[in-house]
Amino acid sequence: MEVLFQASVDEVTKLIGLEKRELDILEDADAAANELLVSEFEKYVERKYNPEIPEVLKRHNLMGVPIEEKYGGRGARQLVQALFLERMGQSGMGVITFADVHQCLGSMSIQDWGTEEQKQRYLPRAAKGEAVLAYGLTEPEAGSDPASLKTTYRREGDGFSLSGSKYLISNGSVASNMIVFAYPEVGGGGLTAFLLDTKQKGFKVDMRLEEKIGLFTSDTSMLTLEGAFVSKEDILGQEGKGFSVAYSALLNGRIGIGSGCVGVMEDCLNQVKERVTSRVQHGKEIGKHQLIQKHVAFIESSLEACRWLVYRAAIKKDDSEKDPKSLPLRAEADRLSAVAKYMASRCAFESADRAVQCFGGFGYSIMSPVAKHFLDTRVARIYEGTDEIMELKIASSVLGKGYEAYK
Ligand SMILES: Cc1cc2nc3c(=O)[nH]c(=O)nc-3n(C[C@H](O)[C@H](O)[C@H](O)COP(=O)(O)OP(=O)(O)OC[C@H]3O[C@@H](n4cnc5c(N)ncnc54)[C@H](O)[C@@H]3O)c2cc1C
Repeated sequence: MEVLFQASVDEVTKLIGLEKRELDILEDADAAANELLVSEFEKYVERKYNPEIPEVLKRHNLMGVPIEEKYGGRGARQLVQALFLERMGQSGMGVITFADVHQCLGSMSIQDWGTEEQKQRYLPRAAKGEAVLAYGLTEPEAGSDPASLKTTYRREGDGFSLSGSKYLISNGSVASNMIVFAYPEVGGGGLTAFLLDTKQKGFKVDMRLEEKIGLFTSDTSMLTLEGAFVSKEDILGQEGKGFSVAYSALLNGRIGIGSGCVGVMEDCLNQVKERVTSRVQHGKEIGKHQLIQKHVAFIESSLEACRWLVYRAAIKKDDSEKDPKSLPLRAEADRLSAVAKYMASRCAFESADRAVQCFGGFGYSIMSPVAKHFLDTRVARIYEGTDEIMELKIASSVLGKGYEAYK
């Protein structure tokens, strides 16, 4: 079970060339990932949310990795954020889901779209872990098709009141603040993003979804908004431009999920290496049987291929940040983030499956170190854009305008 990570300064980071302060983030990530191993495993066996995740991230100053230093964060560019999440991914997708939602969907959206006042108000608290963020797009009747959202807002005093249901929201019952999307109740305007304080009257957690097939250590909640109030200062981006906020968050988030999946593959490879070089059957270590080597080769190749896909998407996103007016750069970053998430989530699931196979009967026990990855990675092919939605997006980016499967 105990495979400690030794990824502090490896070949890949040397190839890319990182500054000392960036390497420090990765060392802290290694320490945090190791520290989370025990509680992650215990909570997974109990099928419970792991409250240690934010605590350990806080202890290692990792709650605000992508937040600019002037707001109290560590100022990581997207590539370093990806490397950070890759390392955290070795402790599992529960940790990644928390960190990806809080940082890539949450604080990065505030950083990208917020007013100076909003940044001052939210980012230092998010960086310290005093605020935990969630992202509420999905509803019971609107998943892959967010245009069909039913949540609405109407003017009330010097703000707005929001009504509707949000479904399958990660960090939903532990978040202090949530980016919520809604349409105007009257007038037929476009979608708007709001920064909602979850302590507001009218915000209700209906249930924590515990009957999942995996990802037990991540909180997934069903929420109701019954006239929940947001002030007029809490519109994120422009009124009616919520889709821009939603989609740019998902661009960041998909790189984050892809990175986490790479981390999972690294752990699968480490666990498999240890197992197949110690378990003896038919008179030799099972790793000396060629059919087992096939699994090792698949996991290693997937890891290497996906790692570079994720880095490429992150580098393109960093390029587009330097030239924010360039729509082609932005579109390319978006396309590559979809490709990276699509491939890394599929390969992580298959790698976890093959790791279970290498472990044999023990692999089928929840107590094996690889079964958790098998159960947890499945969701990465669903959230932040299903396989099918990623396929449509990637195919139309290749075929061009006129080949979009839907508008
Ligand atoms: C554990 C977990 C955590 C989550 N966390 C969050 C969160 O924090 N915030 C949030 O907003 N959401 C979250 N989600 C929701 C997630 O993003 C949605 O489940 C996902 O987008 C799919 O939507 P859906 O479940 O409604 O499936 P549907 O949209 O109903 O899709 C069902 C199937 O139909 C396919 N399909 C749909 N449209 C098309 C099409 N045009 N062409 C081909 N196939 C299509 C889909 O690919 C899928 O296979 C989470 C989900 C889970 C399971």
